[in-house]
Amino acid sequence: MATDYYGVLGLAQGATDQDIKRAYRRLARDLHPDVNPDPEAKDRFQEVSRAYEALTDPEKRRIVDLGGDPFDSGAGAGAGFGGAGFGGLGDIMDAFFGGAAARGPRSRTRAGRDALIPVELELDETVFGVTKEITVDTAVLCETCAGAGTAPGTHVATCGTCSGRGEVQSVQRGFLGQVVSSRPCPTCSGTGQVIPEPCPKCAGDGRVRARRSISVKVPAGVEDGMRIRLTGQGEVGPGGGPAGDLYVEVHERPHDVFTRDGVDLHCRVTLPMTSAALGTTLNLKTLDGEEELDIRPGTQSGSVLTLRAHGAPRLRATGRGNLLVHVEVQTPTRLDGEQEKLLRELAALRGEDRPDANREAQGGLFSRVRDVFNGR
Ligand SMILES: [Zn+2]
Ligand SMILES: [Zn+2]
Repeated sequence: MATDYYGVLGLAQGATDQDIKRAYRRLARDLHPDVNPDPEAKDRFQEVSRAYEALTDPEKRRIVDLGGDPFDSGAGAGAGFGGAGFGGLGDIMDAFFGGAAARGPRSRTRAGRDALIPVELELDETVFGVTKEITVDTAVLCETCAGAGTAPGTHVATCGTCSGRGEVQSVQRGFLGQVVSSRPCPTCSGTGQVIPEPCPKCAGDGRVRARRSISVKVPAGVEDGMRIRLTGQGEVGPGGGPAGDLYVEVHERPHDVFTRDGVDLHCRVTLPMTSAALGTTLNLKTLDGEEELDIRPGTQSGSVLTLRAHGAPRLRATGRGNLLVHVEVQTPTRLDGEQEKLLRELAALRGEDRPDANREAQGGLFSRVRDVFNGR
């Protein structure tokens, strides 16, 4: 069951960005752990923050509006709050309360960014699911200094410019007397700390870029453009801060035979005129293997046969879509003498040797009317 993210914020689907922002702001003021010590309020705050994140990120909201859950993917299922977009509660406080939550020197350690990597998949892989090895190139924790940024055997030191306060004050004289203003310390970027001897491997950043291979479990039924979240597999932050998430974006390669429309697959078969008239059995290679397809006598060009449950699985429900087989009847060309004679005899037998233009026209009209009623 997908979470009702609109409901969590007390809104209905179709709410404007303004509504969402307002509803979130109102709830966050009551529920934020800094103002409400109740543990239940904390859980509720995380729920509300998640809903806010889901509805303010256009890609996530699209998934919500389609009845899905942007945080629920095979690999990232059950992942907690703290995903894309927010570095944590502090960031949310900064966004809504003008940074009032941040006091004193800021941490040298900051949360890392999310990373996005595309993965090319074949149709049978998106339909049935697959485990893929992918190579990612992200910032990882520096092993030499374990993220501290200091050379082995050395330590961070208190910044001499700001004495560790992280900000410097300046005094200006004006009409109204002295104005004292403070700004982040330029020497330590507001952290209150300096690294006298940076780690030779990461130059003090606490992280290095590295290429690594990870295995991604792609759930059955994913579609082109969907993203699988791998919690904590993104970029490690400055100062060895906690890693962001890694999003693996599914790119489905076009298939030679099948085209996909959501959970349904479509393909086309061509039939000789005689088989369409007399009926036959075709062997059709589906993604599930070879299937016998019964062509009833008198099958028309353009008719569609349905192989139930031979499409893609529904990602957040049970069952599978269908395989729709579009039949195209081929009119024979390059008839030899005997074939032409036979066809002429057949035409004469059926009274079709001199088609009545008016009747044909009427037939055409009727079939158009029928098409309209069938919504074609
Ligand atoms: Zn290092
Ligand atoms: Zn400083």
